[in-house]
Amino acid sequence: MCQAHWSDLRTALDERGLTHLISTSAENLVERMESKEDQGFDPLFSASIEIMAAALRDGGLALLQSDKCPLCEAEKSVRGLANDWIEGCSDDQLRRAKELGLAAVN
Ligand SMILES: [Zn+2]
Repeated sequence: MCQAHWSDLRTALDERGLTHLISTSAENLVERMESKEDQGFDPLFSASIEIMAAALRDGGLALLQSDKCPLCEAEKSVRGLANDWIEGCSDDQLRRAKELGLAAVN
């Protein structure tokens, strides 16, 4: 994922109050995945997987074999799609965090 879209995704998760659940490093991510308290949930990691899965459905395996940003590719095919994916998968992470009791329900 390109820097601009990575940053947009982080902002969308931050707007949903999920920043405290994002791993601070690769080591931290592994710890979180194994932690009972965090229930293996990291919204940024989970959102990137979701975006990659959506890109694979739409763009096929060719995308995996390149280092193209899935969101830039989505945006090229449909204007506004990258933002829809970011907002949609960030909403999914908020829902999941609430289900896990990791985010305030309001
Ligand atoms: Zn991009």
